[in-house]
Amino acid sequence: MFDIIGTESQHNSGVYGKREIALVRGAGALVFDRDGREYIDCVGGQGSANVGHVHPAIVRAVSAQAGTLIACTEMFYNDRRAELVSRLAALTGMRRMFLSNSGAEAVETALKFARVATGRSGIVAALRSFHGRTFGALTATGNKKYHAGFEPLVPGFSHVPYNNLEKLAGAVTEQTAAVILEPVQGEGGVYPGTAEYLRGAQELCRQRGALLILDEIQTGYGRTGKLFAYQHHDLQPDILCLAKSMAGGLPMGATLLGERVGEIPIGSHGSTFGGNPVACAAALATLDVMEEQRLPERAAVLGGRLQAQLQAIESPLVREVRGLGLIAGVELKQKVAPCLAALAERGILALPAGMTVIRLLPPLVITEEQLERVVAALGEVLH
Ligand SMILES: *Cc1c(COP(=O)(O)O)cnc(C)c1O
Repeated sequence: MFDIIGTESQHNSGVYGKREIALVRGAGALVFDRDGREYIDCVGGQGSANVGHVHPAIVRAVSAQAGTLIACTEMFYNDRRAELVSRLAALTGMRRMFLSNSGAEAVETALKFARVATGRSGIVAALRSFHGRTFGALTATGNKKYHAGFEPLVPGFSHVPYNNLEKLAGAVTEQTAAVILEPVQGEGGVYPGTAEYLRGAQELCRQRGALLILDEIQTGYGRTGKLFAYQHHDLQPDILCLAKSMAGGLPMGATLLGERVGEIPIGSHGSTFGGNPVACAAALATLDVMEEQRLPERAAVLGGRLQAQLQAIESPLVREVRGLGLIAGVELKQKVAPCLAALAERGILALPAGMTVIRLLPPLVITEEQLERVVAALGEVLH
């Protein structure tokens, strides 16, 4: 039989620390290897599979659009794209947006637009944050581990502790174009931002003429119990970055612009694949699924239950349980790699967030029974 793992390993760039599992099929919250072994997928495509794997509505929309028009750059208008942007505008109150193909691009776009629209160069980001791997997004990322070997980075960036308004106030000046924050820090270890902090950051930006960029690439599309996490705190970000689950698992990113963002000069940015009709069709179907299956509400209910069940696990290994909706972090007093391997043996795939946090990002369609199996397996592994 064709050696999937051996062949991929031979041709890898080497950047990914891969697990010895080859996935060939998915359905809802489940993924399967070639031998038909089933896993409950709490990696969830690193947060890109909120509607579940191979959702029939996504399959239908993608198939139909693929048979109609695949390539159509933004030099021209397109029916699917027009529908999508008007739908996103209605959901967020943000009129203008730039479509791209990934989270890093959505952040890169936000940083460029903040500079060009304000005429300022400073970007203030949080320590422990994650914003992507391209140079601007990487520089915004507040973790030296990701910077190593890639210096010099982009000038004009500074980092302050998360959930600390005083330190943020000390960093935002007349030179600050934007403050960029995640409403819940994901990769950094699952740290929810407090309402006081996020509202204070917004207020500070308004006072000092800076823009507030919210990176909802991981927290968006129902994950935290609202369609977007900023809705928990009645925030009005100036720039909103979306990607991951935006197009039902297909590559897509978006950078939405509020009223406080000035004019973006024509020709100052662009993307060949951005706004392509197949991704737009998938993104429209994703919004339909979110609404019809009430996935944000589902994430709120199941997430509340999950957090309580995780809190109830009695183990000397657990330091703290954190989360919001269906993003959960279990911080251990030791490295998580052996626990993740033990979970995989029990048919549960989960993510790390740093060295000591187990992170769960299940599809929001996960069943109650599947979620109970996840908690039971975690309980066993942590004993
Ligand atoms: C995943 C992620 C990104 C980067 O997205 P890519 O599509 O991998 O480039 C940026 N910000 C946050 C908060 C993320 O979780």
